[in-house]
Amino acid sequence: MKLFKIRGGVHPEGRKELAAKQSIETPPLPHLLHIPLQQHIGATASPAVRRGQRVAKGDLLAAGQGTISAPVHAPTSGRIMGVGSYPAHHASGLSVPTITLQPDGEDRWSDRIQGVEDPFSLDAEAIAARVDAAGIVGLGGATFPSAVKLNLRRKFRLQTLVINGSECEPYLTCDDRLMCEQPDAILDGVRIMAHALGVTQLIVGIEDNKPEAIAAMTVAAAGSDPAIRIAPLPSRYPMGSEKHLVQTLTGRETPARGLTADIGIVVHNPATAFAVHQALRYGYPLVSRVVTVSGGAIARPGNLRVLLGTRVQDLLDHCGGLTEEPVRLISGGPMMGQPLPSTRVPMVKGSNGLLALSASETRRRAPMPCIRCASCVQACPCGLVPLEMAAQIRVGNLETAVGLGLMDCIGCGSCAYVCPGHIPLVQFFNYAKGEMATRGRAKQKQTETKRLAEQRTARLEALKRAKREAMARRKREAAAKQKAEAAALAAKPAREAEQTLTET
Ligand code: SF4
Ligand code: SF4
Repeated sequence: MKLFKIRGGVHPEGRKELAAKQSIETPPLPHLLHIPLQQHIGATASPAVRRGQRVAKGDLLAAGQGTISAPVHAPTSGRIMGVGSYPAHHASGLSVPTITLQPDGEDRWSDRIQGVEDPFSLDAEAIAARVDAAGIVGLGGATFPSAVKLNLRRKFRLQTLVINGSECEPYLTCDDRLMCEQPDAILDGVRIMAHALGVTQLIVGIEDNKPEAIAAMTVAAAGSDPAIRIAPLPSRYPMGSEKHLVQTLTGRETPARGLTADIGIVVHNPATAFAVHQALRYGYPLVSRVVTVSGGAIARPGNLRVLLGTRVQDLLDHCGGLTEEPVRLISGGPMMGQPLPSTRVPMVKGSNGLLALSASETRRRAPMPCIRCASCVQACPCGLVPLEMAAQIRVGNLETAVGLGLMDCIGCGSCAYVCPGHIPLVQFFNYAKGEMATRGRAKQKQTETKRLAEQRTARLEALKRAKREAMARRKREAAAKQKAEAAALAAKPAREAEQTLTET
């Protein structure tokens, strides 16, 4: 298949060999599960259980709210210990609404779980409804509710479904292992999604550093649907960025700040396709995912099928614990992942990796002044000028940085990776984006406050006007009454005189 060249990108040390050969294993049931109610982009799910209630595996714990949301299900059977708050799987470590479940050890599925014999007999809406009810979100880390994406045909003219099997972040091998071990199930999910989207072109892009996965998927595709093309991709970070993957495979550029759907293409992850297969064929909701546990500080790196809500510490223990104090504990990959505040936090739908990096694997050096070498410009896959954006942000000119394309930055970290001055460019960009978002919200609030104030003034004015008019009306009525009474009084003596004359 013809591939198209994209600009920029880097070749970070992969370190995938740590876990790439480790088959997916299932750790024992943890003692407790802490299941956050928001593991997705959109509105927080609303609790559907109470403390002390017994639940079976797959039972609904919290229902999705509104158009963009996702329900949460019991990852195993057990008893609800609490509906409260617990530290989030987030750098802030703030507590978030969470349901705590004590497994009963039986791991018993709910009787209500039921699959569909022939998912291809369902229409698009019915497939999307089942995906929605199963709580499936983008498992590549984006966590956007998948059902919303499956309904895109209502709004866009779609032709192509791309499966993003590039997994370009160093260390991560969870998608690689899933493609090696479950190629038929993944491709079944791909075909179901393609049926829902109404597309006929199916492409699975896989970086060429995963030869076993490419071989397994190629064999499965030949036996499943000849329309599915398996495309080996050059290993180059950030190939996993949706827009860059689409450009590599099709040569088509997604409009700035637009969606790939704008050019008729929808992108999903192999793990999402696997989850769709499980939901449609067997009725299983999303209660677990594959996570790569790796890094130089992990005694026994591996790929684990993890129940959602399992604590980081439980995974570390299962992998033989830490060989040294990690310098960085990260959720996701080292380029775009988020630091974790502690080992107490639970794994969630978007957690594809848990990395404990040793000192020798991290490059913590004091930043030096920019020498204007332009390495960051060459590395940027979005065609931006990182050194200029950072310089403007440093002096507080955020609007100028926006003018230079700040909002097109995908935060991939390629610029910081090549910077010889170790300037924390991504931190600058993340700070500025956050600040701009805060300002945007403040401006929106200001506009809303002004609108409400104007409405109030108009209401008060109308009230005053109505009062004035009522008072004038009352005055007019009183004057008219007075006049009528005066006229009646004036007419009385004349009538009396007239009556006297008549009597005499
Ligand atoms: S790579 Fe670093 S030192 Fe070189 S121009 Fe960019 S910011 Fe400056
Ligand atoms: S983090 Fe942003 S500016 Fe830096 S290389 Fe990636 S897209 Fe370009």
